[in-house]
Amino acid sequence: MFILEYKLRGKTQQFKAIDEGIRTVQFVRNKCVSLWMNSKNVGKAEVYRYTTTLRKEFPFVKCLNSTACQQAGERAWSAISKFYDNCKKQVKGKKGYPKFSKRTRSIEYKQSGWKLDRDHKRITFTDGNNIGTLKLIGSRDLYYFQEFQIQRVRLVKRADGYFCQFCLKLDVRDITPILPQTKKMVGIDVGLKYFYADSDGNFVENPRFYRYSEARLNRLNHRKSRKLKKGKPVSNNYIKARQRYSKAHLKVSRQREEFGKVTALRLIQSNDLIAYEDLKVKNLVRNSKLSKSINDAGWSQFRKWLEYFGVKYGKLTIAVNPAYTSQDCFQCGKRIKKSLSTRTHVCSCGYIEDRDTQASLNILRKATMGHIGSKSDLLDLNAWGDLSSILVGGNTCQGKMNQ
Ligand SMILES: [Zn+2]
Repeated sequence: MFILEYKLRGKTQQFKAIDEGIRTVQFVRNKCVSLWMNSKNVGKAEVYRYTTTLRKEFPFVKCLNSTACQQAGERAWSAISKFYDNCKKQVKGKKGYPKFSKRTRSIEYKQSGWKLDRDHKRITFTDGNNIGTLKLIGSRDLYYFQEFQIQRVRLVKRADGYFCQFCLKLDVRDITPILPQTKKMVGIDVGLKYFYADSDGNFVENPRFYRYSEARLNRLNHRKSRKLKKGKPVSNNYIKARQRYSKAHLKVSRQREEFGKVTALRLIQSNDLIAYEDLKVKNLVRNSKLSKSINDAGWSQFRKWLEYFGVKYGKLTIAVNPAYTSQDCFQCGKRIKKSLSTRTHVCSCGYIEDRDTQASLNILRKATMGHIGSKSDLLDLNAWGDLSSILVGGNTCQGKMNQ
């Protein structure tokens, strides 16, 4: 899947129509979830069928394109099946019982309900919501792709406007120049002191975008709440202040995303194999003292891009079990317990190394362990077949872009 995104230009009335469509999508999704909650033996088929029933029952649902309506049902089912999965796998803690969605921000059309005018870079939505024709603002050329390659069209609402995404069915490897093999491999250890430390002894600083903007965000949030008067209806000034606040948040999240993307690409370009920890960021974030910093680091965005570029450029990305990577001695294997504040690994065998560098060496070794042959054998990518993203000691997880 390959995604092209454009900003949309149109009239206020048209954006109101998009909002109306988004509300309908949310309505259908929540109705499907409540059907599943309130009756027994409701499966995928019943949920999907229910979307058609809703179309007959409510005229405003009928206005929404039928594929977009279907997709709303799919959203409901994906929430339900995720919950089933977690139960089956006996995930510790909360299983993610489906909730009613309150902040739906997108509509997803399949292959109907829209029409593209490539020449003038416009898109027309043809369903009953009267969204009409919108101009696409963006530099990527749509000429490059065939109509049948466009699998989905998504309308997304964000703090700073409305966007249109085209999901293209395309093997990214087909349009990507092959990167030369570097015959290099690297292990990386992500942390809070540094964004990551690699097995060659390099460090990448943590950008801390949130911390940097925290004062400004707090100020905006404060201004926003001051505009909200008890017992009075929401004022225009409040809405404006809220918009300013969410725009500031959007900026931070875009900075983080961009940083993760650039850093990941650099790693992929200069190595043939990248080993990293299979961290469950969700579990780490529960540590309330560190949660802000952990979220701010943006490891999951970084990992997503790392795996995506791995597939795209045919490089190996391997996630290893993080257990004891910072404790075990790289030279003799002795387990040396350290607290988070101990920055240096000192072992009785005489091995002294920076804590994070040591961990990244262990990560690289874990990733390459069990593979017979020399370093160069391992780097012979053909020997690995089609696998580009491997989880050692677990399920294989192919890097996917599923934004
Ligand atoms: Zn040792």
